Amino acid sequence: MRDLTEKALETCSKEGASYADIRIVTIKDEDISIKRGNIQALNITNIKGFGIRTIANGGLGFAGSYLVTPEEIKRVAKLAVRIGKASGATRKKPIEFVDVKAVEDSYKTPFKKDPFSVPTEEKIEILVEVDKRLKEYNPDVIKMTQSDYRGHREEKIFASTEGAYITQQITFAGGGFSCTAISPGTQPQRRSFPGSFRGNFSAEGYEYFESLNLLENVEKTAKEAIALTEAKACPTEKTTLLIDGHQLMLQIHESCGHPTELDRVLGTEAAFAGTSFMTPDLLGKLQYGSEHVNMVADSTSLTGLGTYGYDDEGVKAKKVDLVREGLFVGYQSSRETAAIIGLEESSAGMRADNPQKLPLVRMVNINLEPGDWKRDEIIADTKKGILMSTNKSWSIDDKRLNFQFGTEIAWEIVNGEISNIIRSPTYTAITPEFWGSMDAHSKDDWKLLGTPNCGKGQPGQVMYVGHGCGTARFHNVRVGITKEATATDGVQ
Ligand SMILES: [Zn+2]
Repeated sequence: MRDLTEKALETCSKEGASYADIRIVTIKDEDISIKRGNIQALNITNIKGFGIRTIANGGLGFAGSYLVTPEEIKRVAKLAVRIGKASGATRKKPIEFVDVKAVEDSYKTPFKKDPFSVPTEEKIEILVEVDKRLKEYNPDVIKMTQSDYRGHREEKIFASTEGAYITQQITFAGGGFSCTAISPGTQPQRRSFPGSFRGNFSAEGYEYFESLNLLENVEKTAKEAIALTEAKACPTEKTTLLIDGHQLMLQIHESCGHPTELDRVLGTEAAFAGTSFMTPDLLGKLQYGSEHVNMVADSTSLTGLGTYGYDDEGVKAKKVDLVREGLFVGYQSSRETAAIIGLEESSAGMRADNPQKLPLVRMVNINLEPGDWKRDEIIADTKKGILMSTNKSWSIDDKRLNFQFGTEIAWEIVNGEISNIIRSPTYTAITPEFWGSMDAHSKDDWKLLGTPNCGKGQPGQVMYVGHGCGTARFHNVRVGITKEATATDGVQ
């Protein structure tokens, strides 16, 4: 492959590019979904292609192809330079990149069992069995069932005119199931395991899917779905709110992950996804949360879906502070966006979901660092409150300030103990007030959770990201708004 990358970079320089990089990417993906006893989706994807970025006449050019041959690479390299020159002609100021140390290196996420060496039939068999047992638990009430598996691998080569040559292999796997209980005269109630939106995923091998023990969790999950149909509704009040990992991850994602993406802040993503209230003039000044809130963008956390050796600009993975002791202190950035606001280096946040797409600033693992508490201690320390789990719906404004979330399930907390189940729980707040009210976060149930459904960009890209968190407590939160937020199409 090295002869191909060298040929590409040589062509770009010869055509007048002051900078060029090439990514040659192979993607393998196996996606299986069983719904109500039938195979709903069985998608096995194999993609190989390349993308070339150039800077020419101060403008950025990009072009790619699925045909990886020397002739095609030469043709696309010339095209990428032409596009760079054309885009340079319309710019007021030439594009600038912050420096990066160009390296030759290789990186691989670890796994014990290669997800692609396990026969598809074996995976289908497990999912069908999960689906069958869910229905059998109570066929009169459990009406909708779904079980899912996904395995993914990317092999990437990155080379640049600055001298970088990096090879990487990223693997992740996971899955889960959900069921919906429908009882006459009540609202349908869904319950999922281990998390909503097709389960949970980890940058490990097939052993992670096995460790989820889906079959062993069928009964408890079905039982909770049925109990929800008979549960009392969420009260409308201001109360103490506890949120566990499978909801907290999406809270972090929407109210810290997206608003700290620097391309979004600078307006390049505004048309589709909105902007951000976390503007550069507030960096180092905005009290985003309480002193207990520490958020990082960490592309080095082991097993995270946002973990890699280097990003798609060849910047080495790192841990960057976004919020430290409640203060907004950092952004997720690229070489270009970091230069625009005068940062010294990129946060290593650039990724593309396909060789033919331009890398964007994407969330890595956006983690709420563990606090000092144990989950049970937080519950025992709460006189009156509600504990919510597992996201069901969300809605957040363009600037990421006002939000409303709904979860699958909640429990009342009375005098430090978990009490009745509550159905259709929702809460609403304003981002800095909400995080400003956090006074406890656990360490014993802190987990790095993963979702492969983060949507961004035009044309759209779907990226896999991680969120580390435990159970956190917030005060004076409005719960039980009657109109539930509407879930979108699966991208977050
Ligand atoms: Zn997202």
